[in-house]
Amino acid sequence: MPHMLITGANRGIGLEHTRVLLSRGWHVSAACRNPDKASDLKALDPGDGRLKILAYDAGKAGAADALKAEVSGPIDILFANAGVFGPNDQSFGNSDFDAITRTLQVNAIAPLKLAEAFADQVAKSQLKVMALQSSRMGSIADNTSGGYYAYRASKAALNAIGRSLSVDLKPKGIITLIFHPGWVKTDMGGAGGTLTVNECVEGQLDLIARANPAMNGRFFHVSGEDLDW
Ligand code: NDP
Repeated sequence: MPHMLITGANRGIGLEHTRVLLSRGWHVSAACRNPDKASDLKALDPGDGRLKILAYDAGKAGAADALKAEVSGPIDILFANAGVFGPNDQSFGNSDFDAITRTLQVNAIAPLKLAEAFADQVAKSQLKVMALQSSRMGSIADNTSGGYYAYRASKAALNAIGRSLSVDLKPKGIITLIFHPGWVKTDMGGAGGTLTVNECVEGQLDLIARANPAMNGRFFHVSGEDLDW
């Protein structure tokens, strides 16, 4: 039975990935900060052992290694999805050293630590996909409006990390996909988003199902279009 490990599984895009893959018969290791409070996630449990809810705080050193102790066997999709927007005020002149550092830890460093912890289990699976939930706001080429220092820098860093993973993990047969999920109606995307979580997730899973070596290390809009770095 195929298996996905996803972070940020308690709400938004991560919750919908979990819901859709459970409905397709997958096993899902669903990592979130507060399993006790993850009522929407718990409500998805089919009760047959396919859903494992695991504690994971992306902002803590050692979190990926602690998670590794809880997740055994091959992992077809490792989805580093958890993310934060960062401080409310990200305008020039108001940068907050500690808040930007925390944003970088969660959005960029944590996915690298996950990749390091789980690469061997991904390599043992059928699909062998490492998916990183980035953002077009991390595209330097696309940035004509400025600001958003913490979020933009963290997602640009994630893109750089994803590209290196695509080189370093290629010998293991792993395909690294870097995603902009679209503008999605979630707590982070807000009500103005143009995609529902389901449209986003179906699109991402379609791309993942088609994953092949020619897609390794590319930055994809959920529509399948390549994005500029
Ligand atoms: P939500 O705000 O709805 O969900 C964010 C998820 O990340 C939550 O599950 C949250 O958990 C989790 N998370 C945040 N911080 C941590 C942490 N320290 N440790 C573990 N989990 C954490 O946002 P989305 O679902 O929209 O976002 C998912 C991803 O998609 C993010 O990486 C985001 O940057 C990216 N994205 C979203 C876009 C959109 O339009 N929605 C556009 C571009 C990118 P908790 O409930 O504990 O806070």
